[in-house]
Amino acid sequence: MGLFLKIFIPFLGGALAFYFYSAPQSFNEEMLRGRRVIVTGASSGIGEQMAYHLARMETHLLLTARTEAKLQKVVQRCLELGAASAHYISGSMDNHSFPDVVVKEAENTWGGLDMLILNHIGYSGVGYFNGDVGQVRKLMETNFLSYVAMTTSALPMLKESDGSIVVVSSVAGKTGSPFAASYSATKFALDGFFSSLRHEFIMGKVNVSITLCILGYINTESAVQAISHIIQATPAPKEECALEIIKAGALRQRELHYPPWLVSSTVLMRDIAPEFLDSIIRSSYNLENVKR
Ligand code: NAP
Repeated sequence: MGLFLKIFIPFLGGALAFYFYSAPQSFNEEMLRGRRVIVTGASSGIGEQMAYHLARMETHLLLTARTEAKLQKVVQRCLELGAASAHYISGSMDNHSFPDVVVKEAENTWGGLDMLILNHIGYSGVGYFNGDVGQVRKLMETNFLSYVAMTTSALPMLKESDGSIVVVSSVAGKTGSPFAASYSATKFALDGFFSSLRHEFIMGKVNVSITLCILGYINTESAVQAISHIIQATPAPKEECALEIIKAGALRQRELHYPPWLVSSTVLMRDIAPEFLDSIIRSSYNLENVKR
């Protein structure tokens, strides 16, 4: 078992990572210069880092999240880094009308849109499922339905520009994760919806790409605060993660796995040895630190 973990998994992960990671075309920052991009959840974490990379690439940015004070600072930094333009709109994605308001803002400002990066998540906590169905419903609204609503509003503009939709998801959206049942459910829903939509776009000759980003543990403040005491793992850097998401979107990749070998080997094991994967997942938790 130990030898398998040490040799076989990294080997398979590497092979799969090569498959998912190696793009047919290489990335060039010019691809994004002057493009009009919406980034949700841009006030902190991976979204904030994506905004900074996109600013360096001289894009036009519309950033959104709830906290206005944080968004103001991120916009200011984006302008210093070279963004062609940067502004924000604050509000909560659990408000039914807000996704449409954000897209309308892009339409009024730019008259079009090239890339929609859906990245925000609501707070879900980490612990045993406590039976709170209302909390699951609210999280579905924020983490899933608002993604569908923004996509629906933005689609006419994205069709016009042959644009891209980038959906930030998680390993928890590919395989069940203890202590994050609601979060995991919202991420599985994203895969089901956007993977189906991708088929329809291709079959209906709609030239809008959909990139689903499957992320492992990343060192954002909120993730480290939520899980560092219950899981033994080293998080991957948010700056690199953010850049890989942008590259995958620009290259119109079907899926991004980041960190590549870890995510790819997990997805493979889910299909070929699901019970073995489940036991590895369960054994990686520090149960005494999980709240009942
Ligand atoms: P984060 O730092 O907590 O950022 C979440 C963003 O969403 C913030 O900008 C937050 O800003 C915004 N937000 C929260 N509630 C909102 C609401 N109701 N309406 C609108 N915006 C809201 O998260 P992150 O770690 O960077 O994660 C970013 C993405 O990566 C998520 O999709 C997450 O599932 C995925 N991911 C992360 C990890 C990881 O380990 N970090 C692993 C797998 C997948 P406000 O509070 O100002 O609204």
